[in-house]
Amino acid sequence: MVPGTRLVVLGKQGAGKGTQAVRLARHYAVPHVSTGDIFRAAVRSGSEFGKKAREFMDAGELVPDDVVVGVVQERLSQNDARLRGFILDGFPRTVFQAEALDELLPNGGVELVIDLEVPTEVVLKRLASRRVCVECGTNYSIEKPPSDPEKCDVCGGKVVQREDDTVSAIRRRLELYEEQTAPLIAWYMRKDKLVTVDGIGDPDKVTARLIRAIDLRLRRGADA
Ligand code: ADP
Ligand code: ZN
Repeated sequence: MVPGTRLVVLGKQGAGKGTQAVRLARHYAVPHVSTGDIFRAAVRSGSEFGKKAREFMDAGELVPDDVVVGVVQERLSQNDARLRGFILDGFPRTVFQAEALDELLPNGGVELVIDLEVPTEVVLKRLASRRVCVECGTNYSIEKPPSDPEKCDVCGGKVVQREDDTVSAIRRRLELYEEQTAPLIAWYMRKDKLVTVDGIGDPDKVTARLIRAIDLRLRRGADA
């Protein structure tokens, strides 16, 4: 993979974006930039900024565009992302954010946008059983808990249900996804940057599918 890989992973809440984005970042040796993780870290730090973000997050609402764009701009201006590229997870989530991202990036914006596709019935089930490490963000589920049910296998942190994984917040986030984020699929398709990957099945298989789809598209781009 050439340096400067700039990818976006799109998908509904619970599609597996976070899990897969971490693996892709490792595979392509680029930083994983998750706006959700950035906001959760701000909440844990107890800063004023974190307190504000928390009100939106717990209600399942989006953090205002200008705030999110500021955070992403700051993160992408750091050396690792500037030199090696990045995998964006959870951003952009609105057309406004996608336009802002294009402006932030030199030479033509992101290379490729992956839509990780999973039907709503499936994500609803996954979200209700999702558990997460408060320290490192590793995802677990009721079906696949860590070996000590409340302790993260990776870092020993506490494993809990996310504050925004309540039924009403989940419903609201999916509604916002349809309204604000789903239009990005057509938006990136028009720019010929979209690739759709089936997110159903064993996580390792999904990872393999993603890597295959990305390599195919990026290679095609390089050969053209
Ligand atoms: P999910 O995809 O399950 O909602 P994330 O971890 O990506 O979880 O995000 C958690 C919350 O952080 C969102 O519900 C929202 O409040 C806020 N957030 C994250 N990314 C964005 C974004 N790009 N724009 C607005 N709000 C965001
Ligand atoms: Zn952990």
